Amino acid sequence: MNCPMCGKEMISGIVQSDREVLWIEENKKPQRITSKLFVHSKANAERCADCEIVVIKEVQ
Ligand SMILES: [Zn+2]
Repeated sequence: MNCPMCGKEMISGIVQSDREVLWIEENKKPQRITSKLFVHSKANAERCADCEIVVIKEVQ
C-alpha cells in the first residue's frame, strides 16, 4: 500500500495492545473495535515513518 499523504510504499506490520482498543468520535460513546479488526488485540496495519501515520485495514 502507498502512503495516502506522501505516496511512498508503506511498511507492513501489526498494531498490538495489551488492553481493549476503542474507537472514539467526538460527542459519541466509545465503541469497541470489532473482533474482525482486532483479534487478540492485534490488527494488521501499514505505517509511514516519514508522515508518522499508521493505517489499519478494515479487511485483514
Ligand atoms: Zn508518507
